[in-house]
This record gives sequence, C-alpha cells and structure tokens, in this order.
Amino acid sequence: MDLVAKVPPIAIHADRVSCKSKGACMDLYGERAGLGAPNTYYQLNSTTPENPVKCKYCGLRFYGVH
Ligand SMILES: [Zn+2]
Repeated sequence: MDLVAKVPPIAIHADRVSCKSKGACMDLYGERAGLGAPNTYYQLNSTTPENPVKCKYCGLRFYGVH
C-alpha cells in the first residue's frame, strides 16, 4: 500500500466511482487492481481534493468534480 499512498487523489467527473470506472483502479492498474473485489461504488457528492473517498480494496483516493 506504500506505493498507492503516494498517488494523489484522482478527480472523477461523475457522482460516484468504482474500481471499474474510467480513470479508476482497474483503468489505471489493470485487471489485478480489483483483486477479485465486488464492483463497489463510492458516492462522491461531498468529496473534495482535501477530503477524498478511499477505495477500501486498492487504497486509491477519489473526489468528484462537476
Ligand atoms: Zn479500488
């Protein structure tokens, strides 16, 4: 997880994100990024670059932009 911790929060142009969203875990790191995890969605409504949501499977952080 040390490597992922250095990745800055990722901007997502949508209301929610999952590992399989474009620009998210699987898009960036390939099929292995999901690690067989269910396709869990995270709401981005109240997220900001300073307060992103963290994927509990891969540790990547996301925030919504509109
Ligand atoms: Zn993920």
